[in-house]
Amino acid sequence: MMTSVTTVTSTSVRRAVGAAFRAVILGAPASGKGTVSSRIVKNFNVKHISSGDILRRHIMQKTELGSEVKRYLDRGELVPDETMVALIGKEVESLGETTNWLLDGFPRTVAQADRLQQLYPVNLVINLVVPHPVILKRVEGRWVHLPSGRVYNIGFNAPKVPGKDDLTGESLVQRPDDTPEVVGRRLKDYAKNTEPVIEYYKKSGILQEFHGSTTDEMWPSIKDYVAQFVS
Ligand code: ATP
Ligand code: MG
Repeated sequence: MMTSVTTVTSTSVRRAVGAAFRAVILGAPASGKGTVSSRIVKNFNVKHISSGDILRRHIMQKTELGSEVKRYLDRGELVPDETMVALIGKEVESLGETTNWLLDGFPRTVAQADRLQQLYPVNLVINLVVPHPVILKRVEGRWVHLPSGRVYNIGFNAPKVPGKDDLTGESLVQRPDDTPEVVGRRLKDYAKNTEPVIEYYKKSGILQEFHGSTTDEMWPSIKDYVAQFVS
């Protein structure tokens, strides 16, 4: 299939002085996208947009969109492309031209990636590659603070007080789509829909892969890489 992606090498991106940092982070469910993103935000002048966090907030606040998408999330199925493009397009637009941003959880399909490339071309893609057995184990111990999207993991980065968010003291929950059964489906979906997105960005020369079993292990090289693009 022909796409309209311009081929941009990382070198030419680095030379694009003043260009905003427009990045995407890819990786299977629970590969650490959220954790890596929050470290990037902490270390660099970048805004994080997580599609999953936004959708979960809508569900929690019982908005119209929330009630429309809940059934997809509960089953671990993808929300329709048009809904996602509208939602994320609006978020990105609200940040303005000069803001550096990092998209997490979007795009998830080639249709979404194509649309994004037309609307707001991405210049850097980080792909996290984590072994599946590690992922399955990790999901079991994962607890989230829904309002902020902060993620904890029992035995890895446990909350200071069990079941409570470190910053607000509010309750943590386990995601209904983090059961082994639903995670299995999300991994399958990922292979089917999102592997082609990886290929799509690989072809345009802007994808960088990071391998490892823990975020701590992967973080130093990710940090060095991001530092080449943004301060
Ligand atoms: P992680 O476990 O690291 O959060 P994930 O990618 O499985 O990874 P989220 O990104 O939080 O989880 O997404 C949760 C759910 O939200 C998905 O299973 C899907 O139903 C919906 N969703 C999020 N982003 C998209 C998207 N770009 N396209 C379609 N559905 C999406
Ligand atoms: Mg996430």
